[in-house]
Amino acid sequence: MTKKFVYFFGGGKAEGRTEMKALLGGKGANLAEMTNIGLPVPPGFTISTEVCDLYYKNNKRYPAGMDEQIKANLVKLEKVMNKKFGDPKDPLLVSVRSGAAISMPGMMDTVLNLGLNEKSLKGLIKLTGNERMGWDAYRRFINMFGDVVMGVPHHEFEHALTGIKKKYRAKNDTDLTAKQLKEVVSTYLKIYKKGTKENFPSDPMIQLKKSTHAVFSSWNNPRAIKYRKINDIKGLLGTAVNVQTMVFGNMGDTSGTGVCFTRDPSTGEDKFYGEYLMNAQGEDVVAGIRTPLPISQLAKTDKKSYTKLVAIRNKLENHYKDMQDVEFTIEQGELYMLQTRTGKRTAAAAVKMAVDMVKEKRISIETALMRIDPNSLDQLLHPMFDPKEIAKIKPAASGLPASPGAAVGHVVFSADEAEKLYESKKYQNIILTRIETSPEDIGGMNVSKGILTARGGMTSHAAVVARGMGKCCVAGSSDLIINYKTKTMTIKGKTIKQGDVVSLDGSAGNIYVGKLNTVEPELTGTFGRIMKWADQTRRLGVRANSDTPHDTEIAVEYGAEGIGLTRTEHMFFDHPGEKAGTRIKPFRQMIMVAEKVKILREDLEAAKTTENAKEIAKLEKELAKPLKQYKDALAALLPLQRKDFEGIFKALKGRPCTVRLLDPPLHEFLPHEIKGQSEMAKMMNIPVKEIQQTVESLHEFNPMLGHRGCRLGLTYPEVTQMQVRAIIEAAINVKRNNRIKVLPEIMVPLIGHVNELTITKDQIEETIAETFKNKKASKTEIPYLIGTMIEIPRAAVTADKIAEVAEFFSFGTNDLTQMGCGFSRDDAGKFLTDYVKMGVYEYDPFQVLDQDGIGKFVDTAVRLGRKTNPKLKTGICGEHGGEPMSVKFCHRVGLNYVSCSPYRLPIARLAAAQAVIEEKLANKTKKKK
Ligand code: ADP
Ligand code: MG
Ligand code: MG
Repeated sequence: MTKKFVYFFGGGKAEGRTEMKALLGGKGANLAEMTNIGLPVPPGFTISTEVCDLYYKNNKRYPAGMDEQIKANLVKLEKVMNKKFGDPKDPLLVSVRSGAAISMPGMMDTVLNLGLNEKSLKGLIKLTGNERMGWDAYRRFINMFGDVVMGVPHHEFEHALTGIKKKYRAKNDTDLTAKQLKEVVSTYLKIYKKGTKENFPSDPMIQLKKSTHAVFSSWNNPRAIKYRKINDIKGLLGTAVNVQTMVFGNMGDTSGTGVCFTRDPSTGEDKFYGEYLMNAQGEDVVAGIRTPLPISQLAKTDKKSYTKLVAIRNKLENHYKDMQDVEFTIEQGELYMLQTRTGKRTAAAAVKMAVDMVKEKRISIETALMRIDPNSLDQLLHPMFDPKEIAKIKPAASGLPASPGAAVGHVVFSADEAEKLYESKKYQNIILTRIETSPEDIGGMNVSKGILTARGGMTSHAAVVARGMGKCCVAGSSDLIINYKTKTMTIKGKTIKQGDVVSLDGSAGNIYVGKLNTVEPELTGTFGRIMKWADQTRRLGVRANSDTPHDTEIAVEYGAEGIGLTRTEHMFFDHPGEKAGTRIKPFRQMIMVAEKVKILREDLEAAKTTENAKEIAKLEKELAKPLKQYKDALAALLPLQRKDFEGIFKALKGRPCTVRLLDPPLHEFLPHEIKGQSEMAKMMNIPVKEIQQTVESLHEFNPMLGHRGCRLGLTYPEVTQMQVRAIIEAAINVKRNNRIKVLPEIMVPLIGHVNELTITKDQIEETIAETFKNKKASKTEIPYLIGTMIEIPRAAVTADKIAEVAEFFSFGTNDLTQMGCGFSRDDAGKFLTDYVKMGVYEYDPFQVLDQDGIGKFVDTAVRLGRKTNPKLKTGICGEHGGEPMSVKFCHRVGLNYVSCSPYRLPIARLAAAQAVIEEKLANKTKKKK
């Protein structure tokens, strides 16, 4: 027996179920499910995604047995409908619809009204007594079949239609009479013939066959591929094909079609939300051809259908226990459901609905936590326009609040151009402004900060895609008159050129000319609730990377349990509010003389062993000036660093703080231009030439592998000493003056060999002992730790040795990736994109931790380290600490905490909670087996 490829739904029951999404696609599985729970779904059948897979593997041919199964199901459908496919008297008409396991709105193509030809059209007209609807259905069929199946450009049909509308002064499509539509049909047939060099196929079986082929082919059309790429959709077999009995929303004023959401997809509010159009078919609502009406209006014009629809809304939410996005059609007062799927939502809506549904006892806290995409929380942390400022000014124009948030940027009128301008770095903030958007615009939308359209509703392409991308969108602003040719638009008489700056308020649907100020969002309410639940659930600790008191305050507000990385080098750059050069000048001076001091000291040591008095005196004299400059510089830096640490420790209010000693190569700080060099020369009272020589001598061919990290402290111990003193003194001051507990964790960067750490640790301990003695302090007062970064592969594989000396490890996965994969972070941009495209790496390993490779270093180091030091504390401070997949990995290998930028903390907290829930689920399935 051949495999089952086709699944029937209709007559009150279906062969499929929601759980069969992978096989039947989302649309097919849910049509089956809706049929099974007794909703009015036009009957039909679904050809499985397996066929799509086999179709491609088999040189675009169906697997054996496939045609027979389609025929058998057609016969079954004819029986249920009591109509015959191609019957000239009472034809069965169907739609052919694509639908993959993950919904890809607008990406794949649908053909409606299939089965029509000159003869069956007559039957349809006779039977319905509706001549206009018949011709309308036929012209749509020719257009869709021509465009989707045969590749005749849609605009050719559109152009002809516009011409005929103009000729008869028809404003909307619905204004055309049956006779005029007949003229449209004959023009369309000509366009079809010209475009395909053949007559329009009248045999419904051929129509069906060609259409199913076309749906399968659309799986690999460029925009579907692009959509999958942008949305990171991988591992699907293909699309399914749904063949479904047609119902007609274009049968006059008692018919219509619409789209609705069981809750508000922008805010999450528990209110029925949607749009519809009377006397319309299929995509008219989504395409924004006429402006649709809000669903509440239907209660007034067709109470019966509205009441039914509301009952279905409740039934669907009770059944799916999640917000649904549904399509419906009313045929002469009779309501039909054509699609349901989990509705796309903004992050704000996702959070609100998850919390509300827990309150309504529909879902558990764990389900609520799993329902929110950690990355999407980023949207909530985005700024809004200052409400006070907004209250005072009038928007230039308004439209629909299609996707919330605020965006300020340069107006660009074409998606392609937006991509180019973005890539060339001409504009980084773009407001893509279109009459309406279409799936071809997806790339341009992706690089834009906000989307603005002149046409289309809340369910238009622009709105749906923008919400999915988490971008602000104002849709359907009829105040805009856009001219693509001149690259301008006018808003109530005012002209705006490409490149001009506008501000979009996607939450209110307003457009402002010029730049508005933004404010930070609130972190309380439902968002706070989700975060609380996440914190109760997770085991992994969450810390932040922060170098300043200000960032530390933000970090604490965003839930940091400590700081996982303070980079001290940032403290040597000038701070706002301080005199220019306060920090960088002494730091430069220190670098300039450090090597000289080192060499002279070594010479002096040598001279001392030979007891060459003359030489000793000479060297001592020579050393005096640079040594003074060295010590002066360090002395100038010490209080500055101490002040910074005090600020950070205070902001932390007793939480631990990992401070990393100086890491980057010194030449990064040096003046490379004559102006800065002369300044230094003047300050240090030496010739510019000497400055230039030092700069030259510090040049390295490969600074990333050069004199940096712990190597600096090993050659210039005073730098380490100064930093450690600053940390410990700051800790003592804050403890004593502010009565705040301080838990400093001193971290040595770039250890490859345990001996590097042993020597550095001795230096640190010595300095601490001295500082404690001077201040009459002790380790009980300041319970410090000394640990190291693990960022060199050698360190990871000798972690057992290192853990004998280190009290904690912090994985620096940026460097570890760089050195472990063997490509420089600064140069890999070009080929890494290709690598990901080619599938060499699944993700950019600098963004998502490469779990099989670099992750193994982490895993190994944790296990080796704990073997020799069971109390070893472990964390991660690379960029990966705020990336959900990597956070979950850190949980699985048993790290104590992740550390990330303050703004990614909520993401890390939620991802860490999800890791616990996923672990539970995995254990459950393990037990079952
Ligand atoms: P998409 O995935 O792009 O939404 P669909 O397959 O859902 O494509 O179909 C496009 C439009 O055609 C939708 O508005 C849908 O409701 C409508 N449609 C599809 N099948 C039928 C049908 N059998 N009868 C009436 N309308 C249909
Ligand atoms: Mg649809
Ligand atoms: Mg590093």
